[in-house]
Amino acid sequence: MKLHEYQSKFLFREFGIPIPDGQVARTPDEAHEIASQLGEAVVVKAQVHVGGRGKAGGVKLARDADEARQFAADILGMDIKGLTVEQVLIDPAAAIQQEIYLAITNDRAAGCPLIMSSMEGGMDIEELNRERPEAIIRERIDPSLGLQNFQLTYIASAMGMPRARWRSFGSILRSLYRCYSESDAELAEINPLVITGGGELLAVDGKVIIDDNALFRQPKLAAQRDASGEPESERLAREAGITFIKLDGQIGCMVNGAGLAMTTMDMTKLYGDADGIGPANFLDIGGGASPEQVAAALRIILSDAKVRCVLINIFGGITRCDEVADGILTAYNEVKPNVPMVIRLQGTNASEGNAIISQARMPNIASAETLTQAAQMAVAAAKEQA
Ligand code: GDP
Ligand code: MN
Repeated sequence: MKLHEYQSKFLFREFGIPIPDGQVARTPDEAHEIASQLGEAVVVKAQVHVGGRGKAGGVKLARDADEARQFAADILGMDIKGLTVEQVLIDPAAAIQQEIYLAITNDRAAGCPLIMSSMEGGMDIEELNRERPEAIIRERIDPSLGLQNFQLTYIASAMGMPRARWRSFGSILRSLYRCYSESDAELAEINPLVITGGGELLAVDGKVIIDDNALFRQPKLAAQRDASGEPESERLAREAGITFIKLDGQIGCMVNGAGLAMTTMDMTKLYGDADGIGPANFLDIGGGASPEQVAAALRIILSDAKVRCVLINIFGGITRCDEVADGILTAYNEVKPNVPMVIRLQGTNASEGNAIISQARMPNIASAETLTQAAQMAVAAAKEQA
């Protein structure tokens, strides 16, 4: 779950990271009010869940409160990469001497937190990462030991942080690491962390992503969710209690069990990759697979316009395949998909389940016996629909 810039920075502040003393406005008049209270030049910043707001015109420097009102009027309602700006952050403008990049993220391959930092932070960090990756210092943290003092020293010196700033940089990095760990974040990023004209360090921008699986123990953070930037399908899935991750392929997968769901995705990729065809989603319908769940899952899968075929792969353990088949037909009649569907039912009452499907004689439903068959049929159907 993504936090907005202001939410991220307010969270940083709780962990002792210095941030500008700003507030959020939803109207130009509120922006004016906040700016006049601050009584100095301010930045007006769009709060939307996308990066690169600066380049898109979503960050503007205002000399006074009147200009802040004007810029807020320009930015509120603006469309940035498909998202409408509904609130702006009004921060006192920082006098920037240097922009630093500082982030902690999950290094999935190494299975530990990774610190990335660079003296060349700011709006071109992606470009820097592509063209001169060595300008970004990377340091892994052993999660059982935590961030060590020698690592702080190493990072500050390797990135070229001026000596006089080491102490305050070290304390910010420590705080950011605590923030990252204690908030169950998968990303805690400050870009830019600035050195001001007065030599102070200040987190001017912030981006925090919380691990969805940890939200149950982060109620304060969970309450801050703004779903407007999320794919519609992921919102529907969350509401239906279905584990769903949207991907870029064409074959919508409905599977019970996370492992079988992964295998099913792998198989569509194995047979489809050469033709650019792959899974459109990860979906674990969970135990039971009741008609209501199947219908919800089907609706979620079909809400993605890219889907050209639905592959249903159910292994009946406690779940009975005949019940699942009934569920599929109920869902089918309700949702009326116009894309081909391939169904594989195995396990408890599989033959009864398959009989129900074949007796229904739905023109765009085909049954498969093995997963290999099912994946090949789904890939072929998706190709035909292209
Ligand atoms: P992003 O483009 O979405 O990452 O938004 P940022 O908050 O990082 O702002 C983009 C850029 O605007 C920064 O890299 C700075 O160069 C500039 N900027 C942001 N806040 C201030 C500020 O308070 N003072 C000045 N002078 N520039 C700022
Ligand atoms: Mn930024």
